[in-house]
Parts: sequence; structure tokens; C-alpha cells
Amino acid sequence: MAPVPCAICKTSRALIIRPKNHQKLCKACFIAIFEAEIHHTITTTALFSPGDRIAIGASGGKDSTVLASVLKTLNERYNYGLELFLLSIDEGIKGYRDDSLETVKRNAQQYDMPLKIVGYDELYGWTMDQVVETIGKKGNCTYCGVFRRQALDRGAKMLGIKHVVTGHNADDVAETILMNLLRGDLPRLARSTSIVTGDSTSDVRRSKPLKYAYEKEIVLYAHHKKLDYFSTECLYSPEAFRGSARTLIKSLERVRPSTILDVVRSGEDMAKLVPAEVTGLSQCKSQKVSLSSADGEEDGSAGCGSNGRSSGGEMADMERKLQDDEAASGREIEITTVSSTNGQQHARVAGKSRKEVGRKLTRQTLGTCKQCGYMSSQDICKACMLLEGLNKNRPKMEIEVDVEDEESSTLRRKIEGLALAAG
Ligand SMILES: [Zn+2]
Ligand SMILES: [Zn+2]
Repeated sequence: MAPVPCAICKTSRALIIRPKNHQKLCKACFIAIFEAEIHHTITTTALFSPGDRIAIGASGGKDSTVLASVLKTLNERYNYGLELFLLSIDEGIKGYRDDSLETVKRNAQQYDMPLKIVGYDELYGWTMDQVVETIGKKGNCTYCGVFRRQALDRGAKMLGIKHVVTGHNADDVAETILMNLLRGDLPRLARSTSIVTGDSTSDVRRSKPLKYAYEKEIVLYAHHKKLDYFSTECLYSPEAFRGSARTLIKSLERVRPSTILDVVRSGEDMAKLVPAEVTGLSQCKSQKVSLSSADGEEDGSAGCGSNGRSSGGEMADMERKLQDDEAASGREIEITTVSSTNGQQHARVAGKSRKEVGRKLTRQTLGTCKQCGYMSSQDICKACMLLEGLNKNRPKMEIEVDVEDEESSTLRRKIEGLALAAG
């Protein structure tokens, strides 16, 4: 096959087919456009202000490593004036997190960023290995998600930082939107589309600058920039419902690459139809800030971190293929299965009445947890409820896998019931 010139510079040879739109690009143009798009996301949402101290939630995985690398590059190139830190959570999973933390420690050197590590054991008195020993493998992701969310917040406070960025990518956001759509949870769906989430009692904001970046492009970027990241998946299995949503997104992407962005944009359009008093979304400067309960999963952080949820090892396959292709350098690298490219279609949202949309929705009021003082929409925060259950119930207790779906009060009743039964 004759060499194809890059669609952007027209001079270099195209070596990459962009997963997002199947454009054929040279390596330099791919890296440039990937960075330019993230810069565009950051500037159009007015995500940062000069002088901001930003903690990057760093797992050592591809998403957060690419986020750290790109933020460092853009911060220097465009003089954002940011002070960047790495913030890692040690869940206490032997053979997984201990190894990935070694990667983060190297990243801290490579990117010249201070690193702070916060452990579940020091915060909660439990490692995830101990949690799994107690409750079994089923449902452990729920514990991990609730604990991680709080841990990131607390870690940021220890650093005196008010903004945590996470490596959630477009695939993650699409998956969360789909899950909330399938659950019929419009308020949560609306919150999950917002680039910034935060809450009124904690002044730590969270955002996802890679919200529009495809997971496959993140892998490509990491590969071509030769970034040092950890690619082993979490040893504990993810929540079944999230796994199914992920598989669905991936199969749709194979047929129609624009699906991922289309789902994200549809979610954003649907969010506009949900009244602010229902979602808790408030306008702050030019950006939407989602005021969420501290223990929700609006940012998709419930369940495993961004480092371990590819379905059927697809990303691992892609990494292997990239390495093979590199070995056989000189020929054109085709990464994706080619299918029809439909361009990007924005979902049109029919004008539903506010009444229809707002049915049976309750507003969340925020307070603080009576036990740990962390912000919560309930008297006792989810982490404390889970811990109470863990501490009381040595024998295996049955908690539904997807407790994130339930109202906290239901969960508390369940745990109390279990405690009674056990005691
Ligand atoms: Zn080029
Ligand atoms: Zn608490």
C-alpha cells in the first residue's frame, strides 16, 4: 500500500488512524491535536485561574498519567500559572496498588511534581485487601468507590488544595451517563455530565479535563509519548452493571466511533432539561458546577478507579498491538477496526416539559456526617456507614453489589438490620 500523507500537515506519512474520527495522521500531528483539544476543553470551560494549586488524582494508570503529562505541557506552553501536585490513594491492594504507586513515584520525579499518598488504612483503619477478606469479592468496588472519593478530598485538604482533577475520560463519562439513563436517574445523569463537580460544604472542587478524550486516544498518546504508566488491572472485579454499560459502549464504538462523544453530548443536552433545583447544578462564572452529595458517583468515581475497567482486556490488546506494530515499524499502523464514519451528530433533544422531567425527584440537602465531619446528605456519611458494618460484622455480610443506586437511608437500615442479626 502506498504511504498515505498526514491529513493535517500533508507532508509526513500518516501512521495513526484517530479512533475518534478515523482521520489519518502523523505522530506529531496526533500529539499536537490531542493536546490542543484538551487545551480547548480547559479554556472554553474556564477550568483554571492563574495561581491555582491543582492536585492530580494519580493512580499510575494511563488516564491519570496522560493527564499529568498533558497538564504539565499545557501549563508550560500556555502559561496557565498552575501549581501542580500528584495525589495518590493507597487502597491497600497487594500486587496492584503497591506496584502502581511505584509508577506514581517515578512520575513525580519525571514531571517534577510533589507527591502526596493517602492510605485507606490510615484514614479508615481498613485496607481493601482486609475489606475483601471480610465481605468477599462481591460488592467490594462499592466500598472502594465511597472510600476513594472521601480520601481524595481529604488528601487535597491536607495539601491545602481546593481543586482535584481526575483522569476520567469520554468513555468513562459516556458509561456513567448510560448507567444513569438505564436507572432512570435524571438528576444524577445531569450531574455526571458536568465537567466540574463540587459541593457546598467542602471547598474542594473536582473536574475531569479529559472528559472529551477517547480512552483509545489516551492509550495512543501514552504510547507515542513513551509515558511511564502501570497497565495492570485491579485484582478485584468491577461492579456488574458498570461492566455491562462499559461493554455496551465499546461495542457501539466499534460500529460507530462517534458514539462515545454522541452519548456525552446527549447527556449534556438532557442535563439542560433537568431543572437546577433538582440537580443541584448551579452556574458559577461561565461553568456549570455540579453540587453533588459527597458520596455520590457523579464523577464516575464509584467503582474502580480509572486504571482498571476496560472490558474484555481491549485496552491491553491495544497496548500489545501498539508494541507489535512498533516492532514492525515502517508499515502503516492501524489501530481500530474500520467501520462507517458518520461524523459527529449531536443528539436532538425533544422539548419535554419541565413537569415530566422533574417527576419524583428529591432535592439533596447537604450537611456534615455526625461521625467523621465529612460532608454528607445524610446524618452519617456512606463511608462511616460502610465502616460501621465492617467493624460490627466480622462474618461475611451480604450487601447488594450496587448500593450506590440506593438511598443512603435504605443502606443504613440494611446495615443496622445485619448488625442486629449478627449481634
Ligand atoms: Zn502531520
Ligand atoms: Zn462519616
